Amino acid sequence: MTGRANSIIIVGGGASGVVLAAHLLKSPNPDLRVTLIEKRPHFGQGMAYSTLLSAHVLNVSAAGMSAYADDPGNFWRWLLERGLATSEQAPVYAPRSVYARYLKELLDELEARERETGRLRLIREESLSISPTPSGVEVALANGTSVVAHLAVLATGHDEEPGAGQGHAIRMGSEADTPLDAEAPVLVLGTGLSMVDAFLSLEQRGHRGEITAVSRRGLLPSPHRKGNPIKLDVADIPLGTQLSYFVGWFRDLIRENQKAGIDWRDVVDGLRPFNQKIWQNWPTSAKRRFVEHTKAWWDIHRHRMAPEVYARVTEAVQAGRIRPVAGRVVAIAAGEAFAVEIQSRHTKRLETLEVARIYDCSGIARDISTTSNSVVRSLVDRGLAKPDPLRLGLDVTANCELIASDGTVSAKILAVGPLTRGTFFEIDAIPDIRVQCARLSKRLLG
Ligand SMILES: Cc1cc2nc3c(=O)[nH]c(=O)nc-3n(C[C@H](O)[C@H](O)[C@H](O)COP(=O)(O)OP(=O)(O)OC[C@H]3O[C@@H](n4cnc5c(N)ncnc54)[C@H](O)[C@@H]3O)c2cc1C
Repeated sequence: MTGRANSIIIVGGGASGVVLAAHLLKSPNPDLRVTLIEKRPHFGQGMAYSTLLSAHVLNVSAAGMSAYADDPGNFWRWLLERGLATSEQAPVYAPRSVYARYLKELLDELEARERETGRLRLIREESLSISPTPSGVEVALANGTSVVAHLAVLATGHDEEPGAGQGHAIRMGSEADTPLDAEAPVLVLGTGLSMVDAFLSLEQRGHRGEITAVSRRGLLPSPHRKGNPIKLDVADIPLGTQLSYFVGWFRDLIRENQKAGIDWRDVVDGLRPFNQKIWQNWPTSAKRRFVEHTKAWWDIHRHRMAPEVYARVTEAVQAGRIRPVAGRVVAIAAGEAFAVEIQSRHTKRLETLEVARIYDCSGIARDISTTSNSVVRSLVDRGLAKPDPLRLGLDVTANCELIASDGTVSAKILAVGPLTRGTFFEIDAIPDIRVQCARLSKRLLG
C-alpha cells in the first residue's frame, strides 16, 4: 500500500487527527484525499483542549506545542502574531482553549486552501467500524452511511477510566456536576494533572471546602523550571537491561549532574529523545514492572505543571485546602452525603470521611480491553486488532500498522497517538505525536 495510498481516512479529529491531516496535506500530490472523521462538535479539541477555563493551561511550554515537526516555532509565532504572548515572556504555558483555537485556525486554513482541490473532507459523525475491502477500507458511520479509502488511520485518543469510586464518582464539568455548597468537603480520586484541573475549576467556582485527593502513592506532579536539557548520546544509554539496572543508572546520572549544579529536570528532559527507544528495547517483563512500580514516579517528574499552577497548588496544600492522601478507597456509603472509608498506604489505618461529592480524576483508561470506543471495540472483537501485551493501547508495528489477533500486520489500518502507547510509550504529548505523524505521512506518501 505504501506509496499508492492516495485516499486516507483519519478516524478521530482531536489533536492527533488534525496534526496528521496537516502533515499529509503538505504533500503536493493532487490526487490525495484526506477524510477526517470526528464525533464531537469541534475538531482539534478532544479530551485535552475542550476546556474553556483559562486557568487550565498547557503542561508543555508554547515552544513545544507546534503542530508541525519540521516547524517547531509555529505555535509560538502564532501566539506572538495575535498578541497572546510577548517574546520576553518565554516560556509561556498558554491556556489549553487557546491551543484549541490554534488547531481550529490551522484546520480552517487547510479547509479553505483545499476547497478547490477537494483534497480534504471533514465529517462530523461517529465512526462505528472499519472493514478491509479488496481495494482498501470501508468506514461505517453512526448515521448509516459509510466512506471508503485506500487506508484508515485510527486517532481516537484517550478513553476515560470507567466506573471509578464504585460508580459514585462523577467527572468535573459533566451533567452530574451540579452546583455545590462552597464550603462542602469533596473527595478527588487521583492526585495527578486531572486533580489539578479539578482544583482549579473548583477555585474558579468559588469553592472553599477541603479537597481530599487520594491516589495509591499520593504524589503530586512537579513544576517546570526554565533550563537546558543535557545532551546525551544513544551510546550513553543502557538499552535492553534489567529495569533495576536502568533505574540505578538513571539515578546516578541525576546525582552526578546535580553535583555539577544541573537541575534534575534537565536530565529527565535530556533523556526524552531516547524514551521510545528505551521502552522498545525492554522485554515485556521490564515494561510491566515499570508500569506497575516506577511509572507513577516517572510521571510526576516527566509530566510537570506550569510554574504558576504549581504555586497555586502548593499554596492550597499549605493552607490545608488540598489534602493529598496516599491510600485507597475501601468503601463508599451513599446517603445525603458520602461516607468514604480510606485506607492509608503507609499506616494501613482506616479513615472515614464525609464528603458532598466525589470527583473522578483517575485520568485516562489504563486497559484498552475495557474500551467503550465503538470503532476500537469492533476492531478488537473481529480480531482485526488486539491489545498490546500490557493492554495500554492497540498492538501496532513501529510503522503504526495494526497487528491482528492472529499476528498478521495490516497494511490498511493504522493508528497514531495515545492508542499506540504499547509500542511507543512516550506518545501522549504533541512533541511526540507530531513526529509520529510526520514520519507516517512521509512513509505513506513519500
Ligand atoms: C487533560 C489533558 C491535558 C493535556 N495537556 C497536554 C498539554 O498541555 N500538552 C501536550 O502536549 N499534551 C497534553 N495532553 C496529552 C494529549 O494526549 C495530547 O496532547 C492530545 O490531545 C492527544 O490527542 P488525540 O487526538 O490523540 O486524542 P484525544 O484528545 O482523545 O482525541 C481523540 C478524538 O477522537 C474522537 N473520536 C474517538 N472515537 C471516535 C469515533 N469512533 N468516531 C469519531 N471520532 C472519534 C474523539 O471525539 C476525540 O476528539 C493532555 C491530555 C489530557 C487528557
